[in-house]
Amino acid sequence: MNRRSFAQFLGGPALLSSAAAAAAAPAPANSTPGKIMAITAHPGDGLFTMGAALANQVERGGTAVLLSLSLGEKGAPKSIPVNEYGEMQKTATQKATNLIGAQNMFILYPDAEIPFNDESSMRVADAIREHKPEIVITHWKGTWHKDHQNCHMIVHDAVFYAGLDTLPRKYPAHTVSKVFFAENWEDAENFVPDTYVDIEPVYRKWLQACDFYPMWRGQTGFFRYNDYYSSLAVMRGCLSACKTAVALMSDTAQRAQHLQSL
Ligand SMILES: [Zn+2]
Repeated sequence: MNRRSFAQFLGGPALLSSAAAAAAAPAPANSTPGKIMAITAHPGDGLFTMGAALANQVERGGTAVLLSLSLGEKGAPKSIPVNEYGEMQKTATQKATNLIGAQNMFILYPDAEIPFNDESSMRVADAIREHKPEIVITHWKGTWHKDHQNCHMIVHDAVFYAGLDTLPRKYPAHTVSKVFFAENWEDAENFVPDTYVDIEPVYRKWLQACDFYPMWRGQTGFFRYNDYYSSLAVMRGCLSACKTAVALMSDTAQRAQHLQSL
């Protein structure tokens, strides 16, 4: 599977690179979409940076699941107790994933204290074995946020553990075909997208799903999540000959292509 075909599999026209975007024709959308699992440190990141890809996969006949490793409860504004805010985050995630047609699950660690170790990696590996996604999307490692960085490393090891036949667990081994990293304003260091997904059919629905989160509506801090991510999708659309798009970065290990000739 080359880059064009696996991004097509992901659920939309794929372009070979951002530089080639304007000239490249969208791939024909005739493949059968599989299952995507988005694995995020905090539910808001999951919906804002990975939710449109999940929604698009469902729209095209595939399936999607969002796994969050915390409730993001410590992002609570001063006016809302942390536990109460955590419940609000959980409710928002259930409503948002229902709206876009994705499943949701939580492996709950305390926000800001998500540990990177064999225990957390094995629990995520078990979730991958249970859900059997062909594609996993998670945080890029170029981030200032320790939860995001730990999530990145957890997923790296979890994909390995999930596919290890000789590691007996509750569910049989499952090999993830591709891993992508999502575009996140907090994970921007050395993020170089190489895969674009046309999200125009689900753009409005995805914005509605994000709107369940107080953070999206500007009620928890200074950052304008709504303006940033809704505009980012338009900008990425401009670069990929789509109206709106999400840009993803593939794992360097999966970029090699085997060609008979150029
Ligand atoms: Zn976060």
